Amino acid sequence: MVQFIEKWIGSAQYAKKSPYAMKAETITVHNTANDASALREIDYMTTNDRYVSFHTAIDDVSIVQAIPYTRNAFHAGDGANGEGNRSSISIEICYSKSGGARYKQAEENAVQYIAVLLAERNWGVDRLRQHYHWSKKNCPHRIRDEKRWASFVARIEAALRTQRFHQHMHYSVVEGANAFRVQSGKYTTKEAAEQAAGKALASGALHYVTIIGVKE
Ligand SMILES: [Zn+2]
Repeated sequence: MVQFIEKWIGSAQYAKKSPYAMKAETITVHNTANDASALREIDYMTTNDRYVSFHTAIDDVSIVQAIPYTRNAFHAGDGANGEGNRSSISIEICYSKSGGARYKQAEENAVQYIAVLLAERNWGVDRLRQHYHWSKKNCPHRIRDEKRWASFVARIEAALRTQRFHQHMHYSVVEGANAFRVQSGKYTTKEAAEQAAGKALASGALHYVTIIGVKE
């Protein structure tokens, strides 16, 4: 069970870490190149005096957000007015230095979380960027070195389909219901309804393909 922790940097830190309001356009993926937990990464980022920051760190058990996605973070290395630093949500995946099981879980947590961020914004995976994209830094180093960027994006795309599926589901369940029908749409003619039902049957929906005529 992954926990989501909000550990905001506080407005006193904004001048150094997040001086600008932001309209996010993309999501940038990083590897920490370190072996610290998400909470430790956030603590370090928050307490040092450098003009370096990121929005969220993810490890094997936690997703920790420090900066709201409506404010910028200095994570991309493309300058104070760079597109990466001014319009991209930054996600740090922890434990990438040594890799192993906890990194693998951190990466999977990032896949699921990034899919949620995309779904919430009605974005596709074309919004994803590597840190490398902004400033040619070899980051996310582990994903890049292992030549897994394409498969990493494909995993997010698969998770995104599930997210959208859940977003579009609507429930109408009576108390004590012991059968659940799936209605796939509403049609203005019986022929169109039959055609849609035929398609559903053909795609393997064997149960509860029911045509219901209503007056509304
Ligand atoms: Zn990076």
